[in-house]
Amino acid sequence: MDFDFTPEEEAFRAEVQAFIQAHIPKSGTAEEIQAWQKAVREKRWVGFSWPEEVGGGGGGIAQQVILKDEMAKARAPALGSCFMGLAWVGPALTEYGTDEQKQTFIPDILDGKVQWCTGYSEPDSGSDLASLKCKCVRDGDTYIVNGQKIWTSIAMWSQWIILLVRTSGDGSKHDGITCLLVPMDSEGITVRPIKNMSGGAVFAEVFFDDVRVPVENRLGEEGQGWKVTVSALAHERSSIAEVQGLQRSLAELKDLARSCKKNGRSAAEDPGIRGRIARADARIEAMRLNGMRYLTAQLRGEKLGSETSVNKLHRAELEVEIGELALEIQGSRGPLAKGADEVPADGKWQRMALSWPEVVIGGGTPNIQRNIIAERILGLPKDL
Ligand SMILES: Cc1cc2nc3c(=O)[nH]c(=O)nc-3n(C[C@H](O)[C@H](O)[C@H](O)COP(=O)(O)OP(=O)(O)OC[C@H]3O[C@@H](n4cnc5c(N)ncnc54)[C@H](O)[C@@H]3O)c2cc1C
Repeated sequence: MDFDFTPEEEAFRAEVQAFIQAHIPKSGTAEEIQAWQKAVREKRWVGFSWPEEVGGGGGGIAQQVILKDEMAKARAPALGSCFMGLAWVGPALTEYGTDEQKQTFIPDILDGKVQWCTGYSEPDSGSDLASLKCKCVRDGDTYIVNGQKIWTSIAMWSQWIILLVRTSGDGSKHDGITCLLVPMDSEGITVRPIKNMSGGAVFAEVFFDDVRVPVENRLGEEGQGWKVTVSALAHERSSIAEVQGLQRSLAELKDLARSCKKNGRSAAEDPGIRGRIARADARIEAMRLNGMRYLTAQLRGEKLGSETSVNKLHRAELEVEIGELALEIQGSRGPLAKGADEVPADGKWQRMALSWPEVVIGGGTPNIQRNIIAERILGLPKDL
């Protein structure tokens, strides 16, 4: 297997590195970040893999990997400022949107002028998303929505929500789902923030009480919302750059171990800690090689399927392991919080240790990933 990039791809890497050197915010002021966002947008690196006709970069997958990789290595600010808009609303619009919807929504997503949130999960529909119940009936040219969503990240700061509703209870549970694009200031929407265990509130419950949505805001056909969602989520085409983040965390963890004492000597010399760090290092390398395998398959024109669950599971486990190890290395300082005199790195590791649900649960829990790996990759019998 050849993991080398072509001379053209390496030239693109050099271009990305030079751009980062010239534009990366040095002191992190709001003006600098805005200038950065403007520069990456002008380069068409926001929506890099989207078709040029909708305003994207028309980039190839190998270049996309290089771009994300170099950005992650340099710790550059995100490419674009509307995460969910870029991750799945835009791709779904590109594939299923009417010309009018594309013209209305895509430029604002690329320019970061509007924030989108995702209204999929409900109190009884998370892993089994297709069991969702949020009710939607058609009344002439409008849909009327009644029901509740939960864990809706950044709902309180979003102008739009991509919403899955049930328009029919007939046929298979996947058949009666419809996708709507709804302004968050519509009459009848109530957003109630939920506090997480680190004390902040980044997600919310969202209630819909006779919310009227014009039929023209439907994305795809009525009853085809499941198809729209599955294909939109599949657009996130590579997870290789995530490895960079883990490698960085581990490097910082090694520094932390060098600076803390365990049993009277450097924690970095403790055999137990060394063993766990080495194990994490090896797993990250396994993830990187797995990512390269996915990339090779995609470059051959193969579609990615369940394989990505392997890296999703590894990443979830590693984030938890690194967070827990960091607290253990700090010994009696582990339980301290931001603001305490003795806490290393201003409580950064404590925050990391408390924010694992984001990477572990968001996008599918470890049990669900294990089921996917067991059933679809290993061919084991179906879960009951
Ligand atoms: C930080 C964060 C942000 C999120 N943001 C959003 C968002 O913006 N929009 C949105 O719509 N949702 C969001 N979610 C919701 C997320 O997608 C769901 O929480 C997730 O899909 C799990 O669903 P659930 O919470 O209903 O748990 P459940 O599905 O009830 O699962 C509970 C437990 O049972 C296990 N389980 C369930 N089914 C099976 C099975 N068949 N086999 C084995 N074990 C099983 C699960 O693994 C889990 O351990 C977010 C979640 C988090 C943590």
